[in-house]
Amino acid sequence: MGIRVTIKPLSECIPDFACVAVCPEVFIPDEELGKARIKGGENRGDFMEAVIPSHLKPCVEMAASLCPRGIITVEDSVEGP
Ligand code: SF4
Repeated sequence: MGIRVTIKPLSECIPDFACVAVCPEVFIPDEELGKARIKGGENRGDFMEAVIPSHLKPCVEMAASLCPRGIITVEDSVEGP
């Protein structure tokens, strides 16, 4: 079982890369796009999401709490790794 991580809407991403600083296991900077990316995530128009291993949940929750735009969400998922 994994967790579903979403950055939505991606257009709101500043990007200050606070998420990358606290949770580099999940978030990486996309210099070309000028936005944060989720490792292995799919870009779906104005949002990005991925299902990742659930042991990374505390890390993602920390990033979500620090995101100045409040655009990172995390939810339990039954699919994925
Ligand atoms: S913390 Fe939020 S606003 Fe900052 S780079 Fe990450 S997703 Fe974008």
